[in-house]
Amino acid sequence: MNKPKVLYIEDNFDNRLLVKRVLLAEGFEFLEAEDAQSGIRLAAEERPDLILMDINLPEVDGLTATARLRELPGMENVPIIALTANVMKGDMERTLEAGCDGYISKPIDVDKLPQQLIEFWRNKRHGR
Ligand code: MN
Repeated sequence: MNKPKVLYIEDNFDNRLLVKRVLLAEGFEFLEAEDAQSGIRLAAEERPDLILMDINLPEVDGLTATARLRELPGMENVPIIALTANVMKGDMERTLEAGCDGYISKPIDVDKLPQQLIEFWRNKRHGR
């Protein structure tokens, strides 16, 4: 089965390692960046099929990074999924306003993550 190339932008090493292990084991292509600036650069170079975006990042936060990514040519339709532990009222709205397609709350459920990402990817490709 066809799997997306995922870029995970996350400053926490342990989270990156966990998601990397899970997605590589499931046959996804995996790219990672530890801050927004290098993530945006990598996205422009590597053209991922889906971006997993930590919201709490140093310097440039994930919402700002999402808005910048959306301005890159060809990035209008790449699914960007926000990842955050700050599940509060209004978070979903804020991530959607910034240009995210959806939201996964931390701690990450590694049993569900691969299928969740495939569903976001397929829904976006087929237009919701
Ligand atoms: Mn973080």
